Amino acid sequence: MRLIDADIVQEQVKIIDKPAWMIVRDAPTIEAEPVRHGEWGIIERNFHNNTVDIMCTECDAAFCLSMFTFGLNYNYCPNCGAKMDGDSHAV
Ligand SMILES: [Zn+2]
Repeated sequence: MRLIDADIVQEQVKIIDKPAWMIVRDAPTIEAEPVRHGEWGIIERNFHNNTVDIMCTECDAAFCLSMFTFGLNYNYCPNCGAKMDGDSHAV
């Protein structure tokens, strides 16, 4: 499989006078990675210093965050890039 930029192909189909299959054939290949999905697992809440220890379900990286900011700023894992939308079975 070869991934191409559909926006570029769409523009070239409008302005270039050659068959669509040639435009698709000549379109530049792009690099892409599948989007990873995960969720934060809470390891421990530390009420004495208002922190929470959390772990990414995709890469098992652990972080210690303030209870006041956790959930507000971390909608992805800074280690593996997984989107924290709770859908770890999504493709
Ligand atoms: Zn991760």
